Amino acid sequence: MASILSAGEAVARIAYLSSDVVISVQPSLSIDSEFSHFLHQYATNKASSLICKGVPEVQSVRHNADPLLSVYQPVRSGKITTVTTSSNILVKSIPHLYRLAQYPVVIHVSLNPAGYPDYGDITSIRNVGFTFLQSSSLQEAQDIALTAHALAIRSGKGVIHFFDVANSKSDQPIAHESRDLVTKVINTDLAKQYQGTKSEDTSLYVSEGRAQVRTIGLSGDHAAPASNGSDSPVARASADGTPRDQSSASSSSSDRKNSSSVVSEAESATTVDSQPKPVSSEDIDSICESIWSQLRSHTGRKYNAFNYSGPANTESALFLFGSDPGLFAAEFESATQADFFRNVGLVTPVLYRPWLAERLTEVLPKSVKRVAVLEQVRRKTTKWGPVLLDLLMSLKASGPQKTPVIVGYQLGYLDYNTMTQALSGIFQNLLSESPIQNLEIGAHEGPKGSLSGMQKEFELTQPKLENAYMKILDQLFGQRLFVANALGAKDAGVKDASIRASPEYGFGALLARREHRKRFVSEVQTAAKTRDFTTDTPQKWLSQWALAATEADQANKLAPEIIQRLSTDGSPAAYKLLKFKGLFYKESQWLIGSDAWAYDLGNSGVHHVLASGENINMLVIDSTPYSERAAQDAARRKKDIGLYAMNFGNAYVASVAVYSSYTQVLQAMLEAEAFDGPSVIMAYLPYNSEVDNPLTVLQETKKSVDLGYWPLYRWDPKAAEKGEQAFKLDSERIKQELQEFLRRDNHMSQLMRRHPQFSANLSESYGSEVRKVQKRKAKDAYEALLEGLQGAPMTVLFASDNGNAENLAKRLGRRGKARGLKTMVMAMDDFPLEDLGNEENVVFITATAGQGEFPQNGRNMWEGVKNGTDLDLVNVSFTVFALGDSHYWPRKEDKHYYNKPGKDLFARLAALGGKQIVDIGLGDDQDPDGYQTGYEDWEPKLWEVLGVGHVEGLPDEPPPITNEDIKAASNFLRGTIAEGLHDESTGAISAADQQLTKFHGTYMQDDRDLRDERKAQGLEPAYSFMIRCRLPGGVATAQQWQQMDAIATHLGNETMKLTTRQTFQFHGVVKGKLRPAMQAINAALMTTIAACGDVNRNVMCSSLPELSELHRDTHEVAKKISDHLLPSTTAYHEIWLKDENDKNVQVAGDAVQDFEPLYGPTYLPRKFKITIAIPPHNDTDVYAHDIGLIAIKGEDGKLQGFNLLAGGGMGVTHNMKKTYPQVGRMFGYVDKETVHVACEKIMFVQRDNGDRANRKHARLKYTIDTMGLDVFKAQVEELWGKKFEEPKPFHFESNIDTFGWQKDEKGMHHFTMFIENGRIEDTADFPMKTGLKEIAKVHKGDYRLTGNQHLILSNVSEDQLDTMKEMLKKYKLDNTNFSALRLSSSACVAFPTCGLAMAESERYLPELITKLEGVIEENGMRQDSIVMRMTGCPNGCARPWLAEVAFVGKAFGAYNMYLGGGYHGNRLNKLYRSSIKEEEILGIMKPLLKRYALERNEGERLGDFVIRIGMIKATREGRDFHDDTAEVEEDE
Ligand code: SF4
Repeated sequence: MASILSAGEAVARIAYLSSDVVISVQPSLSIDSEFSHFLHQYATNKASSLICKGVPEVQSVRHNADPLLSVYQPVRSGKITTVTTSSNILVKSIPHLYRLAQYPVVIHVSLNPAGYPDYGDITSIRNVGFTFLQSSSLQEAQDIALTAHALAIRSGKGVIHFFDVANSKSDQPIAHESRDLVTKVINTDLAKQYQGTKSEDTSLYVSEGRAQVRTIGLSGDHAAPASNGSDSPVARASADGTPRDQSSASSSSSDRKNSSSVVSEAESATTVDSQPKPVSSEDIDSICESIWSQLRSHTGRKYNAFNYSGPANTESALFLFGSDPGLFAAEFESATQADFFRNVGLVTPVLYRPWLAERLTEVLPKSVKRVAVLEQVRRKTTKWGPVLLDLLMSLKASGPQKTPVIVGYQLGYLDYNTMTQALSGIFQNLLSESPIQNLEIGAHEGPKGSLSGMQKEFELTQPKLENAYMKILDQLFGQRLFVANALGAKDAGVKDASIRASPEYGFGALLARREHRKRFVSEVQTAAKTRDFTTDTPQKWLSQWALAATEADQANKLAPEIIQRLSTDGSPAAYKLLKFKGLFYKESQWLIGSDAWAYDLGNSGVHHVLASGENINMLVIDSTPYSERAAQDAARRKKDIGLYAMNFGNAYVASVAVYSSYTQVLQAMLEAEAFDGPSVIMAYLPYNSEVDNPLTVLQETKKSVDLGYWPLYRWDPKAAEKGEQAFKLDSERIKQELQEFLRRDNHMSQLMRRHPQFSANLSESYGSEVRKVQKRKAKDAYEALLEGLQGAPMTVLFASDNGNAENLAKRLGRRGKARGLKTMVMAMDDFPLEDLGNEENVVFITATAGQGEFPQNGRNMWEGVKNGTDLDLVNVSFTVFALGDSHYWPRKEDKHYYNKPGKDLFARLAALGGKQIVDIGLGDDQDPDGYQTGYEDWEPKLWEVLGVGHVEGLPDEPPPITNEDIKAASNFLRGTIAEGLHDESTGAISAADQQLTKFHGTYMQDDRDLRDERKAQGLEPAYSFMIRCRLPGGVATAQQWQQMDAIATHLGNETMKLTTRQTFQFHGVVKGKLRPAMQAINAALMTTIAACGDVNRNVMCSSLPELSELHRDTHEVAKKISDHLLPSTTAYHEIWLKDENDKNVQVAGDAVQDFEPLYGPTYLPRKFKITIAIPPHNDTDVYAHDIGLIAIKGEDGKLQGFNLLAGGGMGVTHNMKKTYPQVGRMFGYVDKETVHVACEKIMFVQRDNGDRANRKHARLKYTIDTMGLDVFKAQVEELWGKKFEEPKPFHFESNIDTFGWQKDEKGMHHFTMFIENGRIEDTADFPMKTGLKEIAKVHKGDYRLTGNQHLILSNVSEDQLDTMKEMLKKYKLDNTNFSALRLSSSACVAFPTCGLAMAESERYLPELITKLEGVIEENGMRQDSIVMRMTGCPNGCARPWLAEVAFVGKAFGAYNMYLGGGYHGNRLNKLYRSSIKEEEILGIMKPLLKRYALERNEGERLGDFVIRIGMIKATREGRDFHDDTAEVEEDE
């Protein structure tokens, strides 16, 4: 029965039959669309749908009420949903379309206005991920509507069906498609799968990345989806056996797979469909074929992806993307021989997206040589139309024959009368020798009177290639668009085009524009209250508008109405307002610039815009073709603006390319506009000139996007608030740096989620945190301030050695930002010197290194400033804050080193013409609060001068994170160590984790020898890790030695260090090898837990087993104490030892509940060290530790108990008299059975009373001195429930090792070998490491590491003695024939690995000794032991304060010299000279040694001698260490 009269009806009926819900978008609720009348009629009649059980729901929505928003709710509750609409809602709905593409939604679009619609509404959204179908007649409207629904259900993806309703207005009525056929084709069984599925996420903003996992229904005749065992939809497609028609039979599916046109080739770089997109273009092709073959078998009507009509041997064809193909076809048919368009073919797309190039070449006769492409696009934004580009890419390599000539036309309105003339024009041009591109055909303004006034404003212009992005902005925002720095814009008297193009200019212009609008709003408010208008209406409208002026939607809706009313009013008051009528719109404000801005990021307007936090949009166009990027001037490196902006943290950022994905450009621009804050869009448009070939531009774009050089992405830092991902990748590749940024960012958010209380400190975007708090606390005050100031810029540059200057600079920057200043903080050397003259306010913060030198990261800039002759700072205001130590150089002549870098810089900047903001500030470590004392005085002056001294409502600053915070928040030492180990983007771990890994026995370090070189190469420092084992008493088996050797060789830097705490230490272990190294140590039955950190460390014990039984028992006690005081956390095991695949590993989250019975969650205030010495050897320096145990031998020769000393410790800060070394004080005697409990109780009292606020004052020695020895001891005894007994007598002879062979009471042999400073390594002439390894292979005894960093080959039986001797000889390890001075010397590691080293130590002491050995020999003292020690800093790792002579690093090459320590390690030494270099050292030592040789008493030790002769005063205990030093500090 032929009863359907219009396409609207045909579509509405199919939609109704195939849906649970139909959203009917209408001009208003009372005005019908082409579809709505029918839909409502069906619903009123309660007609049933084929899909749902009853009557489908028809919802009417107004077209300007964000209609697609209504689709989410039904689709998420499993309803099959259809939309009927006109095309004018589409572009604005792009963000919805991206999401909805992942649901089986059908949108039927009637193109607008009928008869001469703008197909640009379709091309603009072509990349949203929907499938697009077009129909051109009444019958097609019904069949394609049915195809659309069947396709949506079978593919699970969205389908848009579009048509111009006018095409079919003179078609004959058609019959209803039978319900039976509709049921079969749409496959209602498959539909049920969707209907049963509810999406769990009901928020509008959740990710729509729904994976299409359902079986794809290829044949509607099969009630259930065919299953042939293959999971691949493609494989199923070819195995399905669905009949194809002849035209496609020649094309095998494998062929098609190779050509793999997921979308149009022209856009294959940018499959921006929402991800994931498991349904491929091949699937869509197969499904369409299957649907159309069903239709054909039931109705006889044939459909193809492309329609072709015309002769099979034509040489010319016309590809139409516009209205009324019927008219064209009729014209071609009636062409005469005289016509240019005789014998031509006509092609129209039925399946527009995915664009199946192969289907096109199938239908297009091979004979075609020329193709005219007609695109009916009203407002052109790009030079070449999208359909032309599709054709170009599709046909360029379609076979051996030449690529056809393809010529694009813009199609205007053609009525029947002008048809012949128009076609003649088209083909005349097409067939000419050099056809002209982009000719317009027909009437641009459409049929008479058909366009409204507004539409007429869009006169046809041929966009230039370079204008594409501007045109798109115009398309999206129309009258609301305001471009601040467009070159063509009228300027405010600024003539220089380059200034008008600069971001600073544009930024200023935008701010001025905002001010202007604000004034305008208040003018309107005033006008609304007057009676100055001729008519009454303006007042009402104006006051309504004034209320809504800041809301874009409302203001823009009212604007045209008001303008119209004011125009008809005609009064002077109305005229006055109309002068600025543009301001009635809430503008979309844009700054447009080129990539030239990227050379100067920190200083450019890009930075200003970002730092301002203002709602301003920037579009930065990069036109460098991919192939030419290498030719760029390498010295002027372009920076990645997108990355810069993302790092800034508060901006919306997108990277787009118009010739890759047009729709993504629209999407990004809409999002940028909607984002409340700065937005930056990086837009790619590679070209050289306007005459570039379109193919070249396409291919350049494709290459850049495909290779990841120009990834397409969108980044919204506020997305998380809506439950969305911040980063959305719209292309397939992503360049390395971006990947690393994202990885780091993930890491950062992980940390923030875990420790929200620290987020302000951890977050890069501190600025935004501050802004939030401020807004809440003092919105008005803050905004008034910002308006008044518009943020003066303040650049803070620092040079920092140990982090203090850097932290201070960052803090200053944050505080400046909170006061509304536009701040930037960076290291001096990271700032381009040539830009210094352009800064307005610069604040330098510099520490003092070495002998009054600049820290490493400020040296280059200082050199430049010092030597720069053409540096002009007349426009720069500056100040300096310097950090130093006024007592660091006690001698008067060295005083000028104090804060020298800061002072020099200040003077030099003034000499170069800079203006002082305020006088230099000096921070002094000697002040009561260190440098803070001076800083607190200086900073307020700075704010005062910058005009931000009195700002109210400033947020509280989060307190700095302390070690105590880190421990407490670490969940028993877990922190984010495990995550950090997986982060491959850096060789480092986070600062907090660096503190925590110490407890696990590993420190992060970097090779300081390589720092400068790596920095110059733009690399991060060469990070690696030191691992320290826990080895009570320093005893290891021969097998363990071999295992340690293998770890050093394969996982470390091929050396090992025997430490002053009798253990193995590995250096140079890179992050990726940390776990394997830890596991290998564990496999050797050792551990590293608590080898460092605020816990009890490795327990030491005298090494030389002369009395083997006594030694064995004592060693047992060492082990018992060590085990007893071990932390209990299982974090160590989890992080390092469990297998990667172990499902039980719970490294993240706080799920694992640990308990530390001895330590509690914050462990100890500071490290805790215990040692045991067995008299007469004090080789472990029993006085230097928190607890020192002196083993007491009973009358039976066996171990009886210990004298216990407590409160020794070495660490000191140079010239800070509050810090001092201390010797352990005698607590009394304890028996061997309970000694571990006594140690535990001492540890408890320290745990509960130690200073947790100041790590420099946290060691036990200070706790005892603060509490008083008696009080402390009494507390221990109370806890213990026992008293210390009187100490037993004991006697020490020395604190050095006894070298050579010794025999114990059981006849076993022990050889103490000399290992200089404990370093085990192979050198060209001394393969020590290899030798020790070879010996370990045959040695049957064990090894003992000594506290002086030497090694004992222990327990050699009589029968092995000769073998061992031979081997020791072979590897030159038996040499103990060194001067006694050398044998008694000891040095710490220092450079290059120790991060705290101020001077060389291990690498220098041997040299120094060589230089002294001459005097020693001359004076016959080769066998006289003198304890000489050296460390690289006052931390005291090699216990220098107990040596007779010590050198402690102060600056590179400069040492403090100490004299007078007791030979047995029983008395501290004292400062003799400070900051002396080698020459002075030798100048003192040589005569001293000579005098000692001549004047000493019998058996008198050097340490005693120097006191007796009055060279130095004796130090009685730590608290008088700083008194009576030989070098008295002089006041200035
Ligand atoms: S004394 Fe100082 S320089 Fe030497 S290893 Fe210890 S911390 Fe490093």
